[in-house]
Amino acid sequence: MAAMIDKHKRNILKLGAVSSLLPMVGCTANKNITESKNTKNTKNITGKSLTPEFSIKDGKLITNPDVITGFARCWGCFDNCSIRVRIDKNSGNVQRVSGNPYCPNNTYQPAALSTPVEDVYKKLADENSNLRATTCGRGTAGGDAVNSKQRITSVLKRVGKRGSQQWQRISYEQAVNEIINGGNLFGEGHVDGLAAINSDKLANPKDPLFGPASKQLLFSYNSEVQIRTNLLRRFASQYRASLGKKSAYCGAQQRIGIQRVFKSGVFAGAAHAHPDIDFEAGADGCEFGIYLGTTPSNSGNSLNTLGAQLAKARTEYGYQYIVVDPILRNAANFGTAAQWQPILPGRDTPFLFGLMHHIFENDLYNKKHLENTNEKSAKKDGELHHTNASYLIIQTGKNAGKILRNKQGIALVLSDGKLSASDAVEHGDLFVDQKVAFDGETYDVVSSLALLRQEVYRTDMAEYARRTGISEERIRDIATQFTNHGRKAAIMLSTASSSADGTITGWATAILNMLIGSHNAKGGACYWHGAVSGLKGVYDLATVEGGYGKADLGVSINREGKYELSAEYKRRKATGSPYPSTDPWPETAPVENTAEMLVSHVHQRPYSLKAFISWRANVLYGASGLPDEVFDAFADPHGKNGIPLVIGIVDQISTTALYSDYLIPDLVHLEEPAIDRHWGSERKSVSASGHLLVPKTDKANDGEHITMEKFLIDVAKKLKLKGFGDKAIKKSDGSYVDLHSEAQWASYCLANCASNIGEKLPKASARDLELTATKYSMRNIYSNITPSEAKLVERLLSRGGYYDESPRYNGEFQAGKPGLCLNIYNEGLNTSIDCFSGNKRAGIPTYAPNAFWNGETWEQHWKKSEFPVLMSSYKPTFRSPWSVSYHRTVEFSPTNYIYMHQKTGKELGLANNDIVNVISANKKPAQGQLKLVEDIVPGAISIAMGFGHIAYGANDITIDNTVIKGDTRRGAGIAYNPIVPCDPTRNGASPLVDIHTYATCRHGIPVKVVKA
Ligand code: SF4
Repeated sequence: MAAMIDKHKRNILKLGAVSSLLPMVGCTANKNITESKNTKNTKNITGKSLTPEFSIKDGKLITNPDVITGFARCWGCFDNCSIRVRIDKNSGNVQRVSGNPYCPNNTYQPAALSTPVEDVYKKLADENSNLRATTCGRGTAGGDAVNSKQRITSVLKRVGKRGSQQWQRISYEQAVNEIINGGNLFGEGHVDGLAAINSDKLANPKDPLFGPASKQLLFSYNSEVQIRTNLLRRFASQYRASLGKKSAYCGAQQRIGIQRVFKSGVFAGAAHAHPDIDFEAGADGCEFGIYLGTTPSNSGNSLNTLGAQLAKARTEYGYQYIVVDPILRNAANFGTAAQWQPILPGRDTPFLFGLMHHIFENDLYNKKHLENTNEKSAKKDGELHHTNASYLIIQTGKNAGKILRNKQGIALVLSDGKLSASDAVEHGDLFVDQKVAFDGETYDVVSSLALLRQEVYRTDMAEYARRTGISEERIRDIATQFTNHGRKAAIMLSTASSSADGTITGWATAILNMLIGSHNAKGGACYWHGAVSGLKGVYDLATVEGGYGKADLGVSINREGKYELSAEYKRRKATGSPYPSTDPWPETAPVENTAEMLVSHVHQRPYSLKAFISWRANVLYGASGLPDEVFDAFADPHGKNGIPLVIGIVDQISTTALYSDYLIPDLVHLEEPAIDRHWGSERKSVSASGHLLVPKTDKANDGEHITMEKFLIDVAKKLKLKGFGDKAIKKSDGSYVDLHSEAQWASYCLANCASNIGEKLPKASARDLELTATKYSMRNIYSNITPSEAKLVERLLSRGGYYDESPRYNGEFQAGKPGLCLNIYNEGLNTSIDCFSGNKRAGIPTYAPNAFWNGETWEQHWKKSEFPVLMSSYKPTFRSPWSVSYHRTVEFSPTNYIYMHQKTGKELGLANNDIVNVISANKKPAQGQLKLVEDIVPGAISIAMGFGHIAYGANDITIDNTVIKGDTRRGAGIAYNPIVPCDPTRNGASPLVDIHTYATCRHGIPVKVVKA
């Protein structure tokens, strides 16, 4: 039967609907198919289906003259898949979005880049081919963004109170003039414009550390859109504005924790791992995976590719995996043979420490891998990395916390009990705790691994088990399974682990992968790849000649620097102890946390903001635990801490943008150029796009469409910022080019990206360009770059991007990965001081129950008797917070629920489908519908993110006295983030944070659930 269905499906495809036809398969009668073939029908095959964009006649691909088909970059989530977009030639409307068959995010085994487009398209319709090219539901619905009824396409100025959603259209030129020059803009008193805010005075006159007063302009932006983000950052750097981004309030702590095993330092960067089940690994891929707080293809990893990889890995290669998550989700369900291990929300760290406890007790670690003390010995043993597991850490005296080194700076180890330089021996003793004599002195030393074991043993298994809600026996069982596969196992986590110790959670996963030697191993833990740069190359877009550099900016408004350099530290040290600091100093996580920046503003520490511009970020919806004072600062510009000027650069009015004074209309993804990396992909890939659709935004008087870039370039030129206007950009040949328009900037970035890839790009024939509408997509590009640069860009865009095809493995490890000294002990971190306690930071992950800023435990403030249930969230398969503006998304993913175990519901006197209030310590009830189920851990609730919008077109707005009706379906469900309470121990109302990096915390929150 399956074969028959497949055959029918192929027949449909053969007719040329080289696109996403799966929804039709179940309802298309065989008769229709036959009739279509017999009558050579090139029109629709079912009543409502589209005319195919291609058909195949006598083995040749015939194009449909009424449509354009081109590649673009999806923006339904951060995976940045490359998509194939079909556009109606007459109306310019998007008719269908499907996958790019060259892109590994869209198809299990993508077409080789060298294959001509015509051949690839024909293969899509070939019943003997395995080639598929799909998008997920969100991506398919993405075309709805273009003509959404609630889209903003004109420049708007508020006419009522902030947030009242009363607007008037004004000209672009008027908006630019008012925003720059300020004045009595709303009849409410004087407002400083961007010209006045752009000042050389100090942001905080008492502390030069914080840089110039121009930083009183804060940009809240999205960092995942390379070309466009780079322009915004260029403007911000030359204005010397503050920059805040989303990732810092959405899981930064775990990624920072993971990176600590790879690089020693106070801030080592960020990394994201997942088990290697890549198709190229085949049967040699990962044998066993642990997924913490997510299922394999949820939470940021491309579900298109990973879903297919997972299916193959488990059905053909016997891949086994355990999902350790409060709630059971699809990829661990429906006959997958996966194990689901329920865990209490926010308790991932004790689970991981429990695993380590069992591994140490039973010597289940990879001794050979850990013992290698240097690169040479690792190589000799067939290893990629060596480790500092045997390096000796000084425990006492002025050098406590440092690795014991010889005069040449080489770490010392004990090798068979003998003190030696780590480069002079092959293996070091892993468990050392003794005195050693060296260079005339005696040192108390403990080896890195022994130090970690001591910390793990400090708490017993029974306590780890109690905290997680998982039995000790089961934790031991999982640890045994994890260590039973050599290095062909890995553990990964997601943002659902963002609790008050999320940094430690991430760090512990990386340590566990290190204990079994799986980092970068074939079938082990593999890592996301970075983007191909569009900033550097033929055009030097990274530097601004004669402009400001990093050193001119000072420390950020949320203090992402060293407390010991601040005026506060010096002042308090002079009069007593400088610790604890008044506020957190996230020296270990300088990742531009917008949420903390807004809190700094309302506390006026170190200074307050004068203007706020948001672009493609929605901090008031996306950040958890924001205090009311932050919302008040937006709602009332004249209130105590009101932000005087707020500008939203938008296509839809978000929760944040609804408080704008001015709205500048912007592009949607199908209108914008792109060169973006794939989230969740270890392959070097870039989804690229030109200007596929003509923008729907109004034009300015100069005939250009209004966009974020146009607005910032025009403002920059009027403010005479360096790096904009005539001869603003230097080329590698020493010549200069202008920067006056969005198209110029995009052209330079695309040319850079293409030149950085160079001859690895496939040749593009005239037919390739025709079938992918590449020349059309580059209509605004050609005039800005040289013909040879344009040829390379054509080659890039003719495949919708570039996807590295070089062999993925070099022997037993991933190719192209340098051999490193992996850290059990992170010495660099130990040079930093915790600004609360005044103690040095630990160089190994440490375990403690969830605690506040001041070290008191959550339980001391939030009693179980009052808040008996722990709350967590998850990313739903078909929603991202902004995809609510794609109308089909609200159709196939209409609402969310509050999931609770039946047993817990019974204990609390609640019934299935009850409308309930979820109440945390912030005492603000959030209402939703309860679903009592069996597939969630008892004592918890779980809520999908991305619902309960109060904006994004959910409500009516008025423009020029005309009401634009909201789509009430967009407001369905319950929003998670507002339920998260503040930290009651910080100075002034402030979000709950991870106490190791001060990134925002949102999981494991104690709440009560009561009938509404
Ligand atoms: S996974 Fe994300 S980027 Fe890819 S098609 Fe779906 S929504 Fe688009």
